[in-house]
Amino acid sequence: MKVSIVGASGKVGKSAAFCLAEENVANQLVLIGRKESFERIEGESLDMYDAMAAKDIRISIKASCDMEDLQDSDVVVITAGVPRQAGMSRLDIAVPNAKIVAEYSRIIAEHSPHSIILVVTNPVDVMTYVALKASGFDKNKVFGLGNHLDSLRLKNMLAKHFNIHVSEIHTRVIGEHGDHMVPLVSSTSIGGILLKNYALNGSIDIEGMVRKVINAGSYVIDKKGSTEYGPAYAIANIITTILNDEKRILTVSTYLDGEIEDIKDVCLGVPVKLGVNGIERIIPIKMNDNETKALINAAKVVKENTDKVMLSLDI
Ligand code: NAP
Repeated sequence: MKVSIVGASGKVGKSAAFCLAEENVANQLVLIGRKESFERIEGESLDMYDAMAAKDIRISIKASCDMEDLQDSDVVVITAGVPRQAGMSRLDIAVPNAKIVAEYSRIIAEHSPHSIILVVTNPVDVMTYVALKASGFDKNKVFGLGNHLDSLRLKNMLAKHFNIHVSEIHTRVIGEHGDHMVPLVSSTSIGGILLKNYALNGSIDIEGMVRKVINAGSYVIDKKGSTEYGPAYAIANIITTILNDEKRILTVSTYLDGEIEDIKDVCLGVPVKLGVNGIERIIPIKMNDNETKALINAAKVVKENTDKVMLSLDI
């Protein structure tokens, strides 16, 4: 199994490479970056080799600035792009990043036409649409990381609130990876018990938690300049699910064509069944009225932004 990361000189790209190597699911990892960053990527790959020896993991990790090295990748991750600086929204970087993502998606389609593309570059829902259109791949083969990370963040907060092991919390955030994310509170459960039945005797400020999830990325960026480990492990989760054909239900940004609430021609975070061929099925979800309204609104906002960005591209 071969995974390539485009933008591997960046913080998210290199951390994702390390997490993936540690998962021991791929036997080839290619770290791709610009020529001027080659030395840095090579340094990263050598450092990772030492760590893998300590873990008894045998893997080939190649640093490269040659796009031909993408050939025969099972999954290509795109993390290349201008990152958000403190005080910037994900949308501030949409047009410059769309150009980078479109260009790399075309190159991926040329050199690795049977791969799956996992988009990470922000604003990820818009960038997933750009990658889908620029690559010309089927919609089950191009999806984005966003709400899976948001869901992990909400899971953590609930686990802390109830002082319960994080594995007991099942929750999901859908919609936009941004201000218009939609927590599926109505189907959140703890130890298999719906939250509304579990939290009968205590108050829980779920709206406050959701506000924290919305701002979680910015909060970390303000303190240390970027987010790394959270996105990296979320990326590793998704790729491990694909390479092991695990058929887990994860939330990824996906092209919708009316499968949920008749939302069409936009990429949004929704639950999907993931396996070795990518998205096997978009999972239908039953939401309450507020959640449904919020999802429809998220779709409207993301579609407007996507349309604006697409006008700036030659696709
Ligand atoms: P970073 O450390 O600045 O890395 C950016 C990467 O993009 C580097 O490899 C950089 O290459 C490359 N790059 C920048 N401009 C480029 C250009 N014009 N052409 C080609 N490559 C270019 O940023 P980061 O923190 O890793 O974040 C990467 C992206 O992931 C950002 O868009 C960020 O917002 C996004 N992100 C998404 C999520 C999510 O959940 N979806 C989570 C976290 C971050 P050089 O090293 O050569 O400059």
